[in-house]
Amino acid sequence: MSLSTVRRLTCTRCGAGYDPDREIYTCPEHEGVAGVLEVEYDYAAIDDAFDADLDGVIPSQWKYAAFLPVADDAEPVTLGEGGTDLLDAPRLSDRLGVETLIKDDGRNPTGCFKDRASSIAATKAKHRGRDVVTCASTGNAAASLAGYAARGGLDCRIFVPSDAPAGKLTQPLVYGADVLAVEGTYDEAYDLSVAVTESYGWYNRNAAINPFLIEGKRTVGHELAEQTHVRGRVPDWVVFSMGDGCTIAGAWKGFREFADLGYVDGTPRMLGVQAEGAAAIHGAVQRHGRGGEGTDDGEDGADGEDDSADGDDTAETLADSIAVGRPRNAYKARRAIEESGGASVVVSDEEILRAETLLGSTEGIYAEPAGAAPVAGVRQARRQGIIGPDEQVVVTVTGFGLKDGESARRATGGLDRIAPDISEVERRYGPAESGTSVL
Ligand SMILES: *Cc1c(COP(=O)(O)O)cnc(C)c1O
Ligand SMILES: [Zn+2]
Repeated sequence: MSLSTVRRLTCTRCGAGYDPDREIYTCPEHEGVAGVLEVEYDYAAIDDAFDADLDGVIPSQWKYAAFLPVADDAEPVTLGEGGTDLLDAPRLSDRLGVETLIKDDGRNPTGCFKDRASSIAATKAKHRGRDVVTCASTGNAAASLAGYAARGGLDCRIFVPSDAPAGKLTQPLVYGADVLAVEGTYDEAYDLSVAVTESYGWYNRNAAINPFLIEGKRTVGHELAEQTHVRGRVPDWVVFSMGDGCTIAGAWKGFREFADLGYVDGTPRMLGVQAEGAAAIHGAVQRHGRGGEGTDDGEDGADGEDDSADGDDTAETLADSIAVGRPRNAYKARRAIEESGGASVVVSDEEILRAETLLGSTEGIYAEPAGAAPVAGVRQARRQGIIGPDEQVVVTVTGFGLKDGESARRATGGLDRIAPDISEVERRYGPAESGTSVL
């Protein structure tokens, strides 16, 4: 069951290497889950195995199977994830004052881009003969894993904060998962999921500690590289919201791989967006950029020390998917931003809600708050002069809006209730002109 194209797992903190066939989550040399592992590949072998055309036709993320860390003989557990559209957004572009494209990843099978990673998790768990999968989640990862567990015939037991949006708590129940609603924060739910993985041996889907999960998120980077290549322009910026930081890191790795292999002509800068009330990665980027503490520790990539300590455990934002007080992948996220020449910004909940209705009303795309945050981030980055007016931007909408109707109700003005009488319509729009009736 060898992972033919995976060379080794390397600790981002101390550089120690591990056999990729061994079941290991984080480097045991460090306390807790601080020793995040990086998956390293044999790119010559991948290049040999990858024979698809970059023609913009992407039936699912399994087009990039050669890049995915699953055994050659593993049967993919799939619902057709990935292959989402990259859309023009002329009206949104006008409003933001910069050419903007939308990667519509809320249209994945469970309504969230996390399906890319869940497909990998379920595939690996099944191939390894495991019966139970678990994760902690602010909502979407749990719902996503539950769907893929059902698809793969696996049992799913998940930990979510009990105040997660109702839609996200109901969805995994429909998929037949055990939903353990933890009376506490996401961070506490997370610690619990790590503890049960250690004691019960359930397969853990948490992207920040399972090194293979970020690898699934790379496919959004592969797709963006391919889709923008077909359009003939490498975008100046690709924008993601950041919670634990896995998504932006995975997307960057994927895009960079295609550039390094010569498939596309360059890489975009990554713009990471966080909510004001949960901005630990932004804080790490700022400090590191200013040459603050944490810059003196080697240049071999093993300098994750300071990022993981970031975060004061409080996370106050209505964008629940990015309400993370202690991001577990701050190091990889910061590195993605820095390597790409990118930046990070923070936005308020008010700005996020305005972005949600702006996106819906200009382009017909309904995003949950964390999915709309990149739009607010572009506004902010334009205001700060980080993004120039002649640049081209891709915002990635990571989650579908119907998952969180409560936030959407806050974002909109609410209903206009009327009596079932034409006079009520006339009061609002004036009398109908005579001769315009189509009856
Ligand atoms: C999980 C999630 C994010 C954040 O991803 P991280 O890998 O935690 O940074 C953003 N948007 C949505 C909709 C999510 O579900
Ligand atoms: Zn280590």
